[in-house]
Amino acid sequence: MQILLYDTTLRDGTQREGLSLSVEDKLKIARELDLLGVHYIEGGWPGSNPKDAEFFRRIRRIELHHARIAAFGSTRRADAACETDANIQALVDADTPVVTLVGKSSTLHVEQVLETTRQENLAMIADSVAYFKERGKEVVYDAEHFFDGYKLDAAYALATLSAAARAGADCLVLCDTNGGSLPHEVTEIVQAVRRHLANEGFAHSDAGRGPTLGIHTHNDGALAVANAIAAVRAGCVHVQGTINGYGERCGNMDLIPLIANLQLKLGYRCITPKQLRRLSEVSHYVAAVANLNPDTHAPFVGHSAFAHKGGIHVAAVAKVADSYQHIDPELVGNQMRIVVSELSGRGNVRMRARELGLDLNGNEQVVLQRIKELENRGFQFEAAEGSFEMLVRRAAPDYQPPFELLDFTVVVSKHGANDMTSQAMVKLKIGDEIMHTAAEGAGPVNALDMAIRKALLPHYPELANVQLVDYKVRIVDEHLGTAAKPRVLIESACGEERWSTVGCSENIIEASFMALWDSLELPLARRRAPAKYQAGTDR
Ligand SMILES: [Zn+2]
Repeated sequence: MQILLYDTTLRDGTQREGLSLSVEDKLKIARELDLLGVHYIEGGWPGSNPKDAEFFRRIRRIELHHARIAAFGSTRRADAACETDANIQALVDADTPVVTLVGKSSTLHVEQVLETTRQENLAMIADSVAYFKERGKEVVYDAEHFFDGYKLDAAYALATLSAAARAGADCLVLCDTNGGSLPHEVTEIVQAVRRHLANEGFAHSDAGRGPTLGIHTHNDGALAVANAIAAVRAGCVHVQGTINGYGERCGNMDLIPLIANLQLKLGYRCITPKQLRRLSEVSHYVAAVANLNPDTHAPFVGHSAFAHKGGIHVAAVAKVADSYQHIDPELVGNQMRIVVSELSGRGNVRMRARELGLDLNGNEQVVLQRIKELENRGFQFEAAEGSFEMLVRRAAPDYQPPFELLDFTVVVSKHGANDMTSQAMVKLKIGDEIMHTAAEGAGPVNALDMAIRKALLPHYPELANVQLVDYKVRIVDEHLGTAAKPRVLIESACGEERWSTVGCSENIIEASFMALWDSLELPLARRRAPAKYQAGTDR
């Protein structure tokens, strides 16, 4: 049976404390989710901030292969018309194929939070759903606090679903907004909802008539995934969640283990087996873009999820890999590791090079060794395909670097009450020519960037179109307790082409310098020797 995945990382996920995504970040994650095979991507709440409105404008120009984009907003205000409701109109302006409307299911919220009548709330739901159905949208109706509302007043909670169903909603999503439900309660309530809808003539199974059922859970009782699975087994076919379970308080339902469990343990179809093998990569990629450390102990995709340490386990897995593993880690793109001997070889190097359209020409071992060395020093290539590509290119014996950076000096100064100034001087080599340049910048990294470009531009005018679009720093805490190191991720763009590069050093300027170097060398190297195809880099 096919399950429809609805990702809300870009909306509900960003409610997590300390998580903030730029429009660029959101677009990158959306592309990645699309490649993973997610069916719906909720981009944000266009009525709540201009950033989300910009996302919807820009995502329209991006070709997606699987996913439909949804905009989120609430039902119309009490005693108002949809036509004059700013939030509803922002949803119209977002111009998405799917509109997700959230409405109240609980009498407590209707009467004490919204301070309106039960009858008016039903009209708000019906009017808002009908408004978007008339405009040809696919409408997902999120029944907020459904489980709590049901426990308080089942008849009313069910009446809100009927109102949405009668108005033409395509999917009714039961939300455990406070995250306190237990799996057996979810099962019972989903079954009760199905009986109710069938009695009202809305059984989805009857020749496709009526809305499908969905589930949206939160993790306050550490049961979000368990509750979603209970709901699916009771008949929900649409599941809402976020990558890595990002979300407010204790998080949303984590789509990563949900997909793996539904598909590998219960035989449901969510994505293709090939897409499933990208699960680990997607989890780590989204963490990197969100500037959060991936949870190394995350089920299925964590670095330690299939790590075996010492003694009996190692001896056993050496004989029979499955003896201490609940699944074959490769099914989700992870791998078994023997911790004591650090045999954590990067079996995916060849695959990733192939994805980039690059030929390793028997240099696997060199590249592998180099990656291992650099990752030990704090580099991370998961979200830095550009640096990975440079590593592969430089490993080729006939590789001719378009330039070489020989040395640099950065001076940052502040005199009295004056502003800070930053200057950089660089010495670099192009062919046989040695160049010295200096430049000022808004900060030390900017000054460095300006000075390098000053030297390169006369030889490589095409670099004028290369822009640095994002710069991120994260502190890498090395496990041996030595000093924390900054890791710098730079995102560059030239038209529609994008690439990310990485640098890591105790010195943040040096880390930035490494990432800058790769970011400027890559477009020149690509121009000289284009990869066979570059689908994998465009994200
Ligand atoms: Zn939620």
